[in-house]
Amino acid sequence: VTDREILSWQLFGEASRALAQEVADDGYEPDIILSIARGGLFVAGALGYALDVKNLHVMNVEFYSGVGKTLPMPVMLPPVPNAVDLSDKRVLVADDVADTGRTLELVRDFCADHVADVRCAVVYEKPSSLVKCEYVWRRTDRWINFPWSDQPPVTRREGQVLDA
Ligand code: 5GP
Repeated sequence: VTDREILSWQLFGEASRALAQEVADDGYEPDIILSIARGGLFVAGALGYALDVKNLHVMNVEFYSGVGKTLPMPVMLPPVPNAVDLSDKRVLVADDVADTGRTLELVRDFCADHVADVRCAVVYEKPSSLVKCEYVWRRTDRWINFPWSDQPPVTRREGQVLDA
C-alpha cells in the first residue's frame, strides 16, 4: 500500500496513447505542441508521434524544488519561445501534471496573446488545479511518481575509466 500514484513506463505508454485519442476524438488538430520541460517533454514527444505533429517547442518552467515544495511562483527560464513561432497557430500545451495549475496558467497566459487557440493536455490533473485542462488522462489528489524522475541522477562509478 502506498500513498503515491505510481506511473510506470509501461503505463505511461498507454496513458499517452489514450490522451492523444482524446485530442483526436475532440477534433482538435494542433499545429504545434508546446512542452513544459522537463516532465512535459516525454508527454509532448509521445503526443507528437500519436497525433502526427512534428512541430514541437519547449518551454522551461521551474516551480517545484522537492516533493510538495514550491518556489514562491513559477518562473520561465530562458530561452523563451518567441511570439512569431506561435502566432496564429493552434497550440497544444503538454505537461505531466497540473497540480496547483500555476505552471499551466503561466504558459497559457503567455500563449493567449499570440496564438489562435491554446489547449492543455496532461497525464494527471489534481482537483485543486486552477487550470481545467481540456485533455486529462487521470485525476488524483496524491503525489505522483513519474518513471523519469523516480530515481536519483546517476553518478560516476569507480573502475569505469577505460581511456586513462
Ligand atoms: P503546478 O504548477 O501545476 O503546481 O505544478 C506543475 C509541475 O510541478 C509539474 O509539471 C511537475 O513537474 C511538478 N509536480 C506537481 N505535482 C507533482 C506530483 O505529484 N509529482 C511529481 N513528480 N511532480 C509534480
